[in-house]
Amino acid sequence: MSTITLFLRTKNSRSLLFCAILFLLHIPCALPAAQRDLRPSETLDPFLTARRTMIERDLKARGIKDARVLAAMEFVPRQIFVPEKFRAAAYDDRPLPIGEGQTISQPYIVAYMTELLELKGTEKVLEIGTGSGYQTAVLARLAGMVYSIEIIAALSERAKAPLAELGFTNIQLKVGDGFFGWQDNAPFDAILLTAASPKIPEPLWRQLREGGRIIMPLGEPRQTQKLVRIRKLAGKEVTEALSEVVFVPLTGAIQRSR
Ligand code: SAM
Repeated sequence: MSTITLFLRTKNSRSLLFCAILFLLHIPCALPAAQRDLRPSETLDPFLTARRTMIERDLKARGIKDARVLAAMEFVPRQIFVPEKFRAAAYDDRPLPIGEGQTISQPYIVAYMTELLELKGTEKVLEIGTGSGYQTAVLARLAGMVYSIEIIAALSERAKAPLAELGFTNIQLKVGDGFFGWQDNAPFDAILLTAASPKIPEPLWRQLREGGRIIMPLGEPRQTQKLVRIRKLAGKEVTEALSEVVFVPLTGAIQRSR
């Protein structure tokens, strides 16, 4: 991890000054918890220009409009969620390997799926597939509480450090099979699957509140899938088919149930 991965401008200038001194001394530093009021500092985050270019070129130019989503994408430094050797490519328009045969999603896909969730700030969101934790961080900027499940323990463990560095207090991670959801925290206002499944896992449907929505890549693994938004209206599925996508497969129980 680099000496300092993120500087944030804060109203508390003493914290910023303290971090700047640590930077000069090559001591790691992250400013603490009240991250919701913070803004990335143009002068001190070496990736901020690349991030802003990505936002213009890959998000706004392709139709991402929600100002809150764009602000969250500007806030979350993707470079701290990717392995060191891919850091320079952090703002490329593509997924990147994160180990264990998995990938961090393309920034556009993260923004697009997040926009589809229509988050206003108070929601309880369930994410299936924590991966690097990048999407989790974007969701946590926009929702009240984010519960995220990852089936590969090593990835869930690795995601903890960057999320802690950013000071999030509204994220809970769990290692397990997301097929079964997280009953103790249900019902959820929104559920996001970041791995493809040929059908909605039944427990997730039950854990979605009335009026809630699921965003997921629907389809067979290793083929093009349909990104869909499914709303629960009067207990029934109302499905919108959106764009074509290619995601890694949801593993675990769903594969045994076919
Ligand atoms: N959004 C993530 C990010 O920003 O890094 C990338 C997610 S990656 C495309 C999909 C993730 O889903 C992988 O980390 C994979 O291990 C996980 N996954 C696959 N099947 C799962 C399951 N049944 N339960 C929980 N996680 C699962």
